[in-house]
Amino acid sequence: MTRPRVLIIGGGFGGVFAARRLRGVDAEVTLLDRGTSHVFQPLLYQCATGILSEGHITQPLRTMFRKRDNIQVVLGEANRIDAAEQVVTALRPDGTEFRLPYDHLIVGVGMRQSYFGHDEFAEFAPGMKTLDDALNIRRRVFGAFEMAETVHDPVERAKWLTFAVVGAGPTGVELAGQIRELATRTIADEFRSIDPTETRVLLFDGVDKVLGAFGDKLSSHAERILGHMGVETKLGRFVSDVDSTGLELSGKDGSKERYETRTVFWTAGVEAVPFVHELAKATGAEQDRAGRIQVRDDLTIPGHDNIWVLGDIMSLKKLPGVAEVALQGGLYAGGRVRALVTGKPLPDKPFQYHDLGNAAYISRWHALVDAGPLKLHGFFGWLIWGFIHIAFLSGMRNRIGTLATWMLAIARGRRRERAIPYGNIRTAEQPYQRRRAG
Ligand SMILES: Cc1cc2nc3c(=O)[nH]c(=O)nc-3n(C[C@H](O)[C@H](O)[C@H](O)COP(=O)(O)OP(=O)(O)OC[C@H]3O[C@@H](n4cnc5c(N)ncnc54)[C@H](O)[C@@H]3O)c2cc1C
Repeated sequence: MTRPRVLIIGGGFGGVFAARRLRGVDAEVTLLDRGTSHVFQPLLYQCATGILSEGHITQPLRTMFRKRDNIQVVLGEANRIDAAEQVVTALRPDGTEFRLPYDHLIVGVGMRQSYFGHDEFAEFAPGMKTLDDALNIRRRVFGAFEMAETVHDPVERAKWLTFAVVGAGPTGVELAGQIRELATRTIADEFRSIDPTETRVLLFDGVDKVLGAFGDKLSSHAERILGHMGVETKLGRFVSDVDSTGLELSGKDGSKERYETRTVFWTAGVEAVPFVHELAKATGAEQDRAGRIQVRDDLTIPGHDNIWVLGDIMSLKKLPGVAEVALQGGLYAGGRVRALVTGKPLPDKPFQYHDLGNAAYISRWHALVDAGPLKLHGFFGWLIWGFIHIAFLSGMRNRIGTLATWMLAIARGRRRERAIPYGNIRTAEQPYQRRRAG
């Protein structure tokens, strides 16, 4: 008798925890991801600003499942699905296709950055959702200081020493704070022509609060700390244009304001990745405005009892796009499939999310924690933030390495992960500027 085939698409929090629930089960489990590693997205900004290496915040999927004989890790990007035939078509890195038939399908492919209909901004304002994004941001941040060092026109130099971050949610706040901390602490005495402490970091948001989801008290605290650090918050107006030399803000009254900067980062919104739209088309599933798929309370798509949708791409009772939702969804869906393939009765138990709270880093010694009645900021918030992140980081080596690196970074202000690929700041495609003659 052939074993049931379980296909899990996405090796993020949802997919990995679903796969873990299926270890040892008598089924052929395939875990498909377009990357080789599970990425711990909450620390991408530390990779982007030179504290942690990409190795600290990732874990190879093959290593994670090397001892689970029933789980095969496959590299490829899910491209199409035929829900009637029960087959997913994926693309290999060279663009060729292969087919993955399934009996049970679990999808947790995550979201990507949204530019609210202005995809042309992406060229000038990269987002931060993937490892590529973090390494791209690292190149732009360190590249901007290098440019400023050799540009002598003061106007042009000021543009290189001005950084704009769009979106004052946790990622934007973390990134803005880290650029300022990098400039005023780590590299303050490393340059000869420029004074990095003069670096301007501007944080923009259309809403008039930073970290609005944390409530008024914690939000005001965060804004105060950012102010002390020298981050300039520009709230309540929308970014209406971005180009290679700056960005434009528009007020509700139609007023316009321009800021000159060579470096803009975008952390303002999310939308579903392309495969989610394919999935919705193939199954007739409803999607919300950002493209998330409406699921039933057992995380399946209506009319498709064998397709579960997890994490950031699922729309259920307005649950937030956070790691805990994906992780708990992965355990739940993995548990349902496990029961099905082992012939156990499926309990009539809907997915229940247990909210463990939120945490956001602002700067050294300062973080916010919002967990039910517990509302912390400052040093104790920072300690709890650190504990949570180490606990959820995948792999013992990564936990120990990250903790040791943080201690060094705190004690000496150093950041060692600053290597950037050759090439100019916008593209690394041409390692040498000068072409060979003839
Ligand atoms: C910068 C940043 C900071 C964050 N900070 C926090 C935080 O502090 N606390 C918190 O709780 N949450 C945080 N989050 C949110 C959290 O990381 C997400 O909610 C969580 O990662 C969602 O898990 P997921 O499994 O749904 O998707 P993801 O973790 O995004 O994983 C999706 C996976 O699917 C793969 N994939 C995508 N498309 C395809 C395809 N077509 N075929 C095959 N594979 C595909 C991707 O390569 C990826 O591995 C943060 C997110 C970001 C980006």
